[in-house]
Amino acid sequence: MRVMQFLQALETALQTLERMRNESAHRPCATRSALDALNQIAPVRENLLEDHAPPATRKQNEGGSSSKNDLGRVSVCTKCPNLASSRTQTVFGVGNPDAEIMFIGEAPGADEDAQGEPFVGRAGQLLTKIIKAMGFAREDVYIANILKCRPDLPAGSFGNRAPTPREMQTCRPYLMEQIGIIRPKVIVALGAVAVEGLLGTRAPMRDLRGRWDLFNGTPLMVTYHPAYLLRNQSLLEKRKVWEDMMQVLDRLEKPISEKQRNYFL
Ligand code: URA
Repeated sequence: MRVMQFLQALETALQTLERMRNESAHRPCATRSALDALNQIAPVRENLLEDHAPPATRKQNEGGSSSKNDLGRVSVCTKCPNLASSRTQTVFGVGNPDAEIMFIGEAPGADEDAQGEPFVGRAGQLLTKIIKAMGFAREDVYIANILKCRPDLPAGSFGNRAPTPREMQTCRPYLMEQIGIIRPKVIVALGAVAVEGLLGTRAPMRDLRGRWDLFNGTPLMVTYHPAYLLRNQSLLEKRKVWEDMMQVLDRLEKPISEKQRNYFL
C-alpha cells in the first residue's frame, strides 16, 4: 500500500511539473543534482509500476520487445477508448535509453501493432537503413511515435489513418515523459504528423524539412517520413533526407566520411 501511495504522489508531482512546463510562463527549473536524483528514481519507479501493474499487463509486457522501456501505465491506457479497444497492444518505443538521437514518427501501423515495436514494417526497414548509413545500429538510437496506439479504422477498411489532433494531445504527456527520460541531444521529427505533434506547426513538408527547430531546448531536425520515400522513389527526395541526416551527424560532431558525403539512400 505504501508503494502505491508513493507512486501516486510521484505521479501527481510529475503531472504538476509537466503542466507548469506546458502552461505556465514560469517554467520549473531544477538543479543538476535534483535532476540526477530524479533520474535515479526513474528506473526504480518503472520497476515498481511494472510490479504493481495488473497481471494482464505484465503478461502483455513479457512478450513485447517494447516492454523494457514502457512506463507501465501506457500499456493499460484507455484515455482514447476507441484506440484502446482496437489495438493489439501499445507500442511505446525501442532503443538505447541513453541515445543521443531520438527519431519520432507518427503512430504504429499494422506491423508495429502486431509486434509491439515501432518502425518494423517497410517504412521501418528504410529507417533502419538510414540509421545504419549514419553509422549507428538501431540499438544505438531511440525510436518512438507521437501516438502509442495504432489509429483505428472503420470496419472493413484497410491502410492507415493519421492521428487526430485530440489523440495527439491525449498521448502527449507520455511522449514528453519519454523524451525527458531519454534526454537525446538531437530529435529527428519524421514527417508532418510528428512536426505537428511536437511543435504544433502545420505546413507543407517541403517548407519544413532540412531546418533546425528547438523542442524545449533540444535541437530538432525535421525530415521526410520514410513512408513518403517509399511512395516517392525520386533520388532527389531521398538525397534530401540524407542531407538532413548529415546535418544531424554534424550537430553531434560525428565525423562524416567521403563515402557518406556521396551517399544516396
Ligand atoms: N510509421 C510510423 O510513423 N511509425 C511507425 O512505428 C511505423 C510506421
